[in-house]
Amino acid sequence: MTRSALKAVADDLDIPYYKAVGDECELFEHAFRHRLPLLLKGPTGCGKTRFVSHMAARLGRPLYTVSCHDDLTAADLTGRYLLKGGDTVWADGPLTRAVREGAVCYLDEVVEARKDVTVVLHPLTDDRRLLPLDRTGELLEAPDDFMLVVSYNPGYQNVLKTLKPSTRQRFLAIEFDFPAPEDEAAIVARESGLPEERVAPLVRLAGALRALKGQDLEEGVSTRLLVYCATLIRSGVKPERAIRTALIEPLTDDADVRQALLRVADIAL
Ligand code: ADP
Repeated sequence: MTRSALKAVADDLDIPYYKAVGDECELFEHAFRHRLPLLLKGPTGCGKTRFVSHMAARLGRPLYTVSCHDDLTAADLTGRYLLKGGDTVWADGPLTRAVREGAVCYLDEVVEARKDVTVVLHPLTDDRRLLPLDRTGELLEAPDDFMLVVSYNPGYQNVLKTLKPSTRQRFLAIEFDFPAPEDEAAIVARESGLPEERVAPLVRLAGALRALKGQDLEEGVSTRLLVYCATLIRSGVKPERAIRTALIEPLTDDADVRQALLRVADIAL
């Protein structure tokens, strides 16, 4: 093998596995090239985070991922003065670091964050692409290879926690859903090492459980949970036990709903 072919193989190995389910990879590349921010919408565990790590590696950019929560403030993203020894030193937050380095910054579940976060995001997401750091007096201009990606899960139906139109209309948006059954079986087989023919019934069961969403369940089984289930089976756990632990118990605490889900599993398998 030539040196450049070897390098191509090595580069490929460094790229996290992601199976495209549509044109999302091309859209991401267009957005990156044109310096446009991107919003990924979709249920938890359907591949959004993996997609962003795959694309950042493919584009050769470092990635800063922040899982947003309801205590996360703008200063957690931009940075703050810290006491070190007797001195106060400025420490960049992940967003500031991403802007300085020309990296991809991924804010997972951005609607969870405090309201002051949107104030920082607005000047970064219009054509000025600026990050003002009030505390240090700096005004950073994002380089061409900086990209902001945010995600949220519209399924939680929390009216208080949704993105304001003035914020969401600053992003291109791609909707994610669970992959089609053949794609999902291939993904779960690859991630868990369980042969595809043994994964296929689990994917069918996930489809049956997802059909119950909205009745007694807030969320359907994620691809992530399917990977967990297949991993347990591959490691020698009996399928019934793996299904209960990975596909049923995480979905509900209600004894009646659990019984109903177990019946669905009995019928589906
Ligand atoms: P999200 O960010 O949407 O909550 P993740 O990206 O963490 O979900 O996905 C959960 C897991 O599901 C991943 O770790 C990966 O194993 C698997 N997965 C889901 N979709 C894909 C895909 N299209 N290609 C590869 N792996 C996937």
